[in-house]
Amino acid sequence: MIVVLKHDPNQAQLESLKLWLQEKNITIHESVGHANTILGLVGDTSKLDIDLIAALDIVEDVKRVQEPYKNANRKFHPEDTVIRVGNTQIGGGTLTIMAGPCSVESEEQVVAIAKAVKASGATMLRGGAFKPRTSPYSFQGLGATGLEYLKVAREETGLPIVTELMDLSQLPLFKDVDVIQIGARNMQNFDLLKAVGHQDKPVMIKRGMSATYEEWLMSAEYVMAGGNENVILCERGIRTFETYTRNTLDLAAIPVLRKLTHLPIIIDPSHATGKNFLVEPLALGAVATGCDGLQIEVHNDPAHALCDGPQSLRPEVFDSLARKLLKLHGMMKEVEE
Ligand code: PEP
Ligand code: MN
Repeated sequence: MIVVLKHDPNQAQLESLKLWLQEKNITIHESVGHANTILGLVGDTSKLDIDLIAALDIVEDVKRVQEPYKNANRKFHPEDTVIRVGNTQIGGGTLTIMAGPCSVESEEQVVAIAKAVKASGATMLRGGAFKPRTSPYSFQGLGATGLEYLKVAREETGLPIVTELMDLSQLPLFKDVDVIQIGARNMQNFDLLKAVGHQDKPVMIKRGMSATYEEWLMSAEYVMAGGNENVILCERGIRTFETYTRNTLDLAAIPVLRKLTHLPIIIDPSHATGKNFLVEPLALGAVATGCDGLQIEVHNDPAHALCDGPQSLRPEVFDSLARKLLKLHGMMKEVEE
């Protein structure tokens, strides 16, 4: 349920309304906007008398929210969420560019790639230390050592790091990372979602390969229900009947999520296509469609990459793409004005 308050409500009346709701075990999510303040009510609201609340002096409107996701719902929080990460921000009209290798392979590799992508305009460094691989015989990542190398790369470049958490037991190792990534395969690992909801680092949830928008938003809701509101959604392609591409990029996710949620939206054209020549057109398409940022795999020697070489861009190709993305992002702002 949402309660839209009148402009500049009487504070004493507001406090007594909140107290009354809290006594009924309702959690209140307050969103202060330019025009109105909205109280998002979470809990068993079925017994609340909607007419009684609507009749209060300070209340402009009361609506039931049908969707099962509440905290993630735009109705609860009409303004876009903006997340500060290190010296950069995600959302709020900026274009976040997360770039780096699929996996951290060595200190030299990740530092060299970090320096290259930073020079091209990337705002964050990506790199997996714990890798979810389809085959148990494939490279599984450097683990804790990989996280150390990412931190060295952050020190050298100033780029905040985003890296995947695969298992609850790894969480203590993630206290120094900037954004925790929950991979597509773990999108519905509810224990993992609860755990990252009880800590305060921003969490980026990649869409499960067969997840509906609602299932994906419910995963965000798990994190937010624990108290962590800094959630980012990343579309990385879904499974369809097409086998030419690794997955099928769902660009409609951008306007759909924009309508349903206030959370920032990142597009990953690398895992969505699996092919390096498709990364540029789809990244440009994503910027034109209004995403808040991209996650792109970059490797200095794709032919010898330990993971995802075929979809990785060489630094010089990424450089040309990053320039186009920033230019297009500026043009889109003009078009929308
Ligand atoms: C990744 O980002 O390296 C990754 C494994 O992505 P996804 O979970 O989208 O497959
Ligand atoms: Mn990868």
